[in-house]
Amino acid sequence: MSDELREQLRNLHKSYVASLGPELMSLRHKAECLGQDAGEDAQLLGELYLSMHRLTGSAGSFGLPALSDRARALEHFLADMGCESVTASELAKPLAQDQCQLIVDALKGMSREVKPVDDPLAVFEASEAASQENYQLLIIDENVKVGKSMASALESFGYDVALSPTIADGAVQLQNLAPDVMILGHSLTLAQQSIDETLRQLNSGELPEVPVMLVGESKDFHTLLEVVRAPVIGYFQRPVDMPRLQNRLERFLNVRRGVPYRILIIDDDRMLARRYELVLKLAGMDVSVVSEVERSLEVIASFHPDVILVDLNMPGCSGPELARIIRLHDEWLRIPILYVSSETDLDVQNDALSQAGDDFVTKPISDDSLTATLRARAARSRELSEAITRDSLTGLIKHAAIKEQLEIEIARAQRQSYALAVVMIDIDHFKKVNDTYGHASGDLVIRALANLLRQRLRRTDFVGRYGGEEFVVILPQCDHLEAFKRIDAIRCDFAELSFQDSGRSHRETFSAGVACLAANNRREADVETLLEQADAALYDAKSAGRNQVQPEKAN
Ligand code: GH3
Ligand code: MG
Ligand code: MG
Repeated sequence: MSDELREQLRNLHKSYVASLGPELMSLRHKAECLGQDAGEDAQLLGELYLSMHRLTGSAGSFGLPALSDRARALEHFLADMGCESVTASELAKPLAQDQCQLIVDALKGMSREVKPVDDPLAVFEASEAASQENYQLLIIDENVKVGKSMASALESFGYDVALSPTIADGAVQLQNLAPDVMILGHSLTLAQQSIDETLRQLNSGELPEVPVMLVGESKDFHTLLEVVRAPVIGYFQRPVDMPRLQNRLERFLNVRRGVPYRILIIDDDRMLARRYELVLKLAGMDVSVVSEVERSLEVIASFHPDVILVDLNMPGCSGPELARIIRLHDEWLRIPILYVSSETDLDVQNDALSQAGDDFVTKPISDDSLTATLRARAARSRELSEAITRDSLTGLIKHAAIKEQLEIEIARAQRQSYALAVVMIDIDHFKKVNDTYGHASGDLVIRALANLLRQRLRRTDFVGRYGGEEFVVILPQCDHLEAFKRIDAIRCDFAELSFQDSGRSHRETFSAGVACLAANNRREADVETLLEQADAALYDAKSAGRNQVQPEKAN
């Protein structure tokens, strides 16, 4: 995918550069006719001004800064003459010869700056999008049996786990693997030395930079004091409650299988918009472009952007006007609106911002800055909307939000003709967990299942907490069989997890029902029907004995 995007970006650069020559040539021919008729001059100067304004922004973004500088100089020259818009009142008399000559020369100079860019992609090589690899853990525990069972529990949560039975072997693995976290059996350190010394021993005299999680026998004051003095991120007493440990790991690693940030670009300059689109896509974002400003609202409604990037100057409707229209919709109030413009005049910027909108992105902008700015804005926007839509116990999306997401996904699946599966999951005999071990333990089981689902599903899947111990999973591009396989694998792993409560260990199970929208479904499909089908299948799974996944009944 990324290679394909690269190729597209290269081609876009080529066609942009190829379009510049003829465009500048045609402007020059027109400029050569200046100085004859005042009315025609006014018209042409307005047109030139707009072209220069656009070129200032686009040439810089396409890696031609010298051309951008020259365009900006001519733009300012024309602005000083009062040609800021095509509707500027006619000139009193035709342009003086020396002024005409200056303009023609400026355009000639610009043509000389049109050259192929060496490598339009150079900036990306460093910031290659984050890979989707699993987190690597290293467990060092002399009790091989215990180590193995911890490793398999963590593997079921989707981590890559290596196991070392001794400090010496651990030291080698630590160097070779550079794990994200190492889990150290504290009994190894019990001998005579402190935790600190053991850690140094592992890393030839230095404290390792890899975060350490300790697992030990005792929870007495002296042990805990030593633990808090050592550079460790957590301490768990044996027998280890794996879901709790995984929960701590997840929080530490901030494992977020989040969907990519969604950026909406509204710009009538198609080529520049296309360039931004490719740049942001290469950085792992999901991008939608609108060139006809009237389509903005429908796209915002279907695309649910995290950030909207709006061109300041568009024909028919200015950026600030569009921003005000967007702000008339309460449900879009939290979406940041950024203006993109080559406008550097602070008064103009403030005027736009005082009407609506949140910030300015000034063209030309480097690919890195554009990506960084949008990523920061989108992250904040996500955070805000997640605080509203996410459940605090599990971090999953709540009832209303998952249904909203399902509506979006159904529409997308039908538009792109792919299959979509919806799964309803319910923990078995959950009342008994609460009654036997207490509500807090029940919460832990809910959280463990939430973590497991989040870890094991794809970035593009959605998991919601539908009710108390009920979950809804949306699997785009997934047919019945595939959905069954995935959920059933998770079911098996969940049933293997061992929960520890006041010295007693217990295992829990869940039942699930799958409903599917076939790839070629042309019928009206709605959220309620799909959820009802999944719920009916779940009911079947419960009646058939629980701890199983059932498909929806054929109609
Ligand atoms: P079944 O196998 O038929 O699903 O049996 P069940 O006991 O799981 O079914 P039921 O839906 O009757 O019970 C769900 C229980 O979940 C009841 C409720 O007290 C408990 N519950 C709901 N939300 C939470 C929560 O956030 N935390 C805890 N600990 N318990 C919860
Ligand atoms: Mg229930
Ligand atoms: Mg239940």
